Amino acid sequence: MRALQLVWFRSDLRVYDNAALTEAMSHGPTLALFIACPQSWQQHQMAPIKQDLIRRRAQVLEQELAELNVPLLLIEGSSYHDVQSVFEPLLSLGLARVYTELEYELRERRRDQVLQEWLAKQGVGWWQCDRQCAFAPGSFVNGSGAMYQVFTPFKKRWLQRFSEQGLQVLAKPKPQAPIEINLPALTRMHSGDDCSTAWPVEQNALLKQLRRFCQQQVQDYKKLRDLPALDATSRLSPYLAIGAISVRQCIARLQVEAGTALQQADSGASVWLSELIWRDFYKHVLVAWPDLIKHQPFQAETATIRWHNDETLFRAWCDGKTGYPLVDAAMRQLNQTGWMHNRLRMVVASFLVKDLHIDWRKGEQYFMSRLIDGDFAANNGGWQWAASTGTDAAPYFRIFNPITQSERFDPEGDFIRNWVPELAKLPNQHIHWPHKLPISKEYPKAVVDHAKARQVTLELFRHARQQGEKSDEST
Ligand SMILES: Cc1cc2nc3c(=O)[nH]c(=O)nc-3n(C[C@H](O)[C@H](O)[C@H](O)COP(=O)(O)OP(=O)(O)OC[C@H]3O[C@@H](n4cnc5c(N)ncnc54)[C@H](O)[C@@H]3O)c2cc1C
Repeated sequence: MRALQLVWFRSDLRVYDNAALTEAMSHGPTLALFIACPQSWQQHQMAPIKQDLIRRRAQVLEQELAELNVPLLLIEGSSYHDVQSVFEPLLSLGLARVYTELEYELRERRRDQVLQEWLAKQGVGWWQCDRQCAFAPGSFVNGSGAMYQVFTPFKKRWLQRFSEQGLQVLAKPKPQAPIEINLPALTRMHSGDDCSTAWPVEQNALLKQLRRFCQQQVQDYKKLRDLPALDATSRLSPYLAIGAISVRQCIARLQVEAGTALQQADSGASVWLSELIWRDFYKHVLVAWPDLIKHQPFQAETATIRWHNDETLFRAWCDGKTGYPLVDAAMRQLNQTGWMHNRLRMVVASFLVKDLHIDWRKGEQYFMSRLIDGDFAANNGGWQWAASTGTDAAPYFRIFNPITQSERFDPEGDFIRNWVPELAKLPNQHIHWPHKLPISKEYPKAVVDHAKARQVTLELFRHARQQGEKSDEST
């Protein structure tokens, strides 16, 4: 008899607010599965630190599910092409249905489609929910029936939905009766290399971090969130990226702790909510324009920009050796910790594209290969915003000045001193641009002149726009 429900965990590594787990357990005895797919992760350029975080989180999930009497099979796989070989030996257990949460990226969708068809042939059902966002992509559209291309009206509609419907957060399911299963011999998932241990993975620690942020820090979020030397943002993105917590859990906690402040447009709470809506926005954009996954710019005419792609300059940027202290500090922080503050992501992205004239896709890939919170939609959205090629992007003539950004957002130079030890002894007035002093020879000379680089960027964009206009006229 087919009586066993199987919940397959992917980017939803949690027991709270997990619709696939809740639905599976409501239908009968449930087994859970997680398959590590290092080959596919590498194809996605997933950073080693994110891979380690996933492995550590999956191991803890095994214990959390054991409290619900749900055994979790942690399997070492290779690539998405091979997942069927993991399901084959499980068929003999009498699987009734497989439960999953939808992942939006193309390879993941293809993997699911192939598996679903194969399972159907074996008489096994497939149940999938769409819950990576607070509101599922496509569940609301603009007046012309299309996805919004601009954030502000999207946010307005999102907030309207929120006030009409609220959001449902699912509780942790009640334990099931213990089940006895003769598990087939499959290779158990390896442990990672523990390079992510600075980031806790226990559910209670994450919930505590969320609660503490909403109780103690969110009030000052608007004022302090742009200062990288302070720990003034939630640092929850790595957990949202792997689904160790859900966006609905974040919003529900914010509602409880912020109360009426959430209705005040200028409060820290409503600004934080806006950031979570940006997360939804970029995922909706990705689903509406799947070509973004194929690395196409959203604004088609920018595809013709002739990026210079100088490899030496690219290496200087990657290594934090551009001679621009804030850029270098940010890149060194990324290289050493897998993390970078949002303000700095904007600064270094703008610098790569508009000062070094390097294709934004090279930066996008480099970020994915280093970030602990690498997330295709947010990363692509952030890069295309900075490069002025995306939806609701910065206008092409808005070019961050890396020195004034430094003076504004790291006024005392604390962040720079922390990450660029060569400059640690400089006084504040020279820390943002040390090149007028006979500083230590160890610190690199500036690789470009910002003012000149700015002019080149304006020219690159003007040329691409003219080309676009010409081809419009000839069609
Ligand atoms: C070039 C560039 C690349 C980026 N790459 C990523 C990425 O790979 N993964 C990622 O999660 N975020 C990315 N971001 C967005 C943002 O920088 C991070 O989400 C944020 O720094 C995470 O810190 P936090 O959790 O403390 O955020 P908070 O300030 O506490 O915000 C709360 C949550 O809102 C979401 N969020 C915040 N800002 C954004 C944003 N601009 N776009 C989408 N979601 C947002 C995140 O899930 C974040 O955890 C990128 C931004 C830029 C400019």
